[in-house]
This record gives sequence, structure tokens and C-alpha cells, in this order.
Amino acid sequence: MDKGFFSFGTMNAIHIESDIPEEQQQKILDEMQNVCRQLDDRFSAFKKDSDIGRINHNAGKKAVPVSKMTFRLLKRAKEFSALSEGAFDVTIRPAVNMWNTGRDRNAVPSEQECRKIRKLVDYRQLILDDKEYTAFLEQKGQSLDLGGIAKGYAGDLIRDLLQERNVTDALINFGGTILTLGQKRDKTPWRAGIQNPLQQRGKIVGSFNLGEDVLVTSGVNERFFIKDGIRYHHLLDPATCRPASSGVLSVTAAGGSGMDLDGLTTAFFVLGTEKGIPLAVRLGVEVLYLMESGEIIATKEFADGKYRFLFEENKS
Ligand code: ADP
Ligand code: MG
Repeated sequence: MDKGFFSFGTMNAIHIESDIPEEQQQKILDEMQNVCRQLDDRFSAFKKDSDIGRINHNAGKKAVPVSKMTFRLLKRAKEFSALSEGAFDVTIRPAVNMWNTGRDRNAVPSEQECRKIRKLVDYRQLILDDKEYTAFLEQKGQSLDLGGIAKGYAGDLIRDLLQERNVTDALINFGGTILTLGQKRDKTPWRAGIQNPLQQRGKIVGSFNLGEDVLVTSGVNERFFIKDGIRYHHLLDPATCRPASSGVLSVTAAGGSGMDLDGLTTAFFVLGTEKGIPLAVRLGVEVLYLMESGEIIATKEFADGKYRFLFEENKS
């Protein structure tokens, strides 16, 4: 049975294969959608009274108490920001806003605007108090954005919940964050395709065998506009506050935690292969880069290990 719904600014799909009576399956899927809606409410930067909305609103003013769940996510987000030396930066929101406003008109912000916004993007100025469970942004105008990590967090949670509801076989796809339980009806492993971001949706470069691992892709195909032949996409380099120009079309990473991989793929994208691959190796994460040049650069489990990446370029 399938369910599709919009949350976290993207389309999400849950597919379950189960002998549980259909009515009950339907109920479980409805419950999952509700849980996602609640998470979205809590994490969304758009909603004023969400934890994140309140932290942003009180930037430069005061520390804000948040739920343990939000606190944990922020803590991890800040860790990833440090780990990637700021390639992932949880305070990227002012830059995201600047580009979103421009997107409606296909307008590219000026160098001056970027320079101004750059001063606001600094994860070190997010102060988390472990005892009081509060969060504080030091400068007025700063704001948090969990867009690069929330889907992964939600995916992990939904997979655990499905398991608790005795669903043994499932495929979850939250806008490119893919998690599985069990296997397909025919006892073969779940497979996931990787898209060429420059081609139409559904056209894939290759596909993977998935065990119980999580697979996360970040690419230039999500939200973008093209002006003067340049693709302005939604993965921003915090150092410039412009779309990262690392020669990367997409990054796919595989491993155990959706939340961690979601944060990391955003970082890997911004870092490019030269810095991203050493970081991935250091963290024990498998990555596959699809480059603008057409090259595919991958660590060994993708190349010939357990994920068995298969090229399918000529099939449509
Ligand atoms: P998608 O599946 O949409 O590609 P990602 O996990 O790659 O999602 O995250 C993209 C989102 O993360 C952006 O829409 C933006 O909200 C946020 N973002 C963009 N650049 C960065 C960055 N350098 N660090 C942290 N978050 C970012
Ligand atoms: Mg991400």
C-alpha cells in the first residue's frame, strides 16, 4: 500500500508490503503522515510559533526553551556544522531567504547583499544550553534552517514507528532520503535509482541494492532557476552565500542514520570531491558523486561493494 504527502517542503512517499489487514495499513499510513506534519510544524522556519520560529524570532534578544527533540536535532546539526568546517551551516537561513526572494523574479543577489548576509551565517553563534534546553542566536537577523537535515530525522523516526506497528517490509522516500525495512514481496532487496539531475525526472543513471541501509541524495535538481546559462540551485556555500559551485551535480551517501546522512550529503555537496571524499572516508560513510563533467566518483562500497551500483544510462 502507498501513501504520498507533502511535508518538509517536498513530496514524501511511504510504501509498505504487509499481510496486516488493509484497513489497518491505511490507519498506520495516516498516522505516519500525521507524525510528519507535527515534525514539520516543530521544525519549520516558516511557522512563527514552531521551536525554530521562536528561536529565530528571538535572535539577538534571548535564549528560548525548546523541546528535547528539537534540542537534540540542533545539537547534531551544530556538530555537523563543525565537522564540515561550516560547509553545512545550520544558520544558513538568511542566505536561503535572500535567494528565495530572488527566485520568484529570477534575480541574482548583488555582491553587496551577499556580503551583508554572510556576516549572519555562523553556526558558532548558535548557543545551546545543555542544562536548560535552550537555544540562542547571538546576532539579530540570524536564523536557523533545518531544511538540510529534518527529512533524515523524520525518516529515522518513521522507520522505527513502522517497525513498532509490526510492519516488516517498507520503502520510505522523503524527497531523496530513502530508508527501508525488510525486503520486497518477491524476497529481493529494495532498489533505489539515482537520477541524472539534468534530465527529466524518472530518468536514472544507475541503481543500488539496499539492505537496511539509508540512502540519501542531494542534488541540483530540487529547487533552482537558470539565468544567463547559470543554474542557481538551493545548496548554498556558507562562505559565499551563493549556490555551491563545486562541480557537483549530486551526492549520494549510504549508511545507518538518515539524520546524519542528510546533514552530511549537504556538506559533501558544498565541499566537492576533493574535501568531501576524505571527510567521508574519515567518518566511514560511503559516497557517490555525480559530476558536471559526467564523471562518477565513488568510495569502494559503491564502486564494487555491497550496494552494487549498476549503470543504466541507456535505458529510459
Ligand atoms: P534536498 O533533498 O532538497 O536536496 P538537502 O538535504 O540537500 O535537501 O537540503 C537542502 C536544504 O538545506 C536547502 O533547501 C536549505 O534549506 C538548506 N541548505 C542549503 N545550503 C545549506 C548549507 N550549506 N548548510 C545547511 N543547510 C543548507
Ligand atoms: Mg541534506
